[in-house]
Amino acid sequence: MNWDTLVIGSGIGGLTAAAALAREGQRVLVLEQHDILGGMTQTFARQGFSFGTGLHYLTGVTAPGDDEARFARLLNTLGDGTLRFQPLPDRFDLVRLIHPDGTETRFAYGAPEADNWARLKAQFPAEGLPSTRMPTSTSRRAAASTP
Ligand SMILES: Cc1cc2nc3c(=O)[nH]c(=O)nc-3n(C[C@H](O)[C@H](O)[C@H](O)COP(=O)(O)OP(=O)(O)OC[C@H]3O[C@@H](n4cnc5c(N)ncnc54)[C@H](O)[C@@H]3O)c2cc1C
Repeated sequence: MNWDTLVIGSGIGGLTAAAALAREGQRVLVLEQHDILGGMTQTFARQGFSFGTGLHYLTGVTAPGDDEARFARLLNTLGDGTLRFQPLPDRFDLVRLIHPDGTETRFAYGAPEADNWARLKAQFPAEGLPSTRMPTSTSRRAAASTP
């Protein structure tokens, strides 16, 4: 069989490229070394716990119509248009530090980044954190995950 394009790897990058090329009429073959497709979008379960291998949440997919949502529009154009994203709460990652004496310190990480830094400084004053930190992408737009 003749192929126009071979895509090595079935992660979100490879599958997005393959779907876009197929939409344009190319004959595309995706080659994956693993026996499960999806790369770091996969999840797996151990002892009743579910683990994500990579992708958990995305920026730039909320607020349809907004320029920032172009990635969501791209994914929907390549799919059947039914993909929906759910805005994350302000605090979406809980960090739990278990100390040797069994006590626990918790810190809820979220967006915007500037809030995290201010709350870290307030919660751990003895650490002497600088007053500002370079913002990351989570500070620019609310993150989102699939429902
Ligand atoms: C712990 C963790 C958390 C993350 N959290 C987030 C997040 O919340 N939000 C976010 O946006 N990003 C996150 N990322 C990053 C995100 O997961 C990756 O940027 C993204 O999944 C990469 O996609 P990809 O298609 O480039 O590669 P991958 O998903 O790595 O896919 C590559 C695929 O290629 C296959 N492959 C490789 N070599 C070959 C070969 N020679 N032949 C055949 N197949 C091959 C692999 O088996 C794999 O299936 C996270 C990453 C990690 C590790």
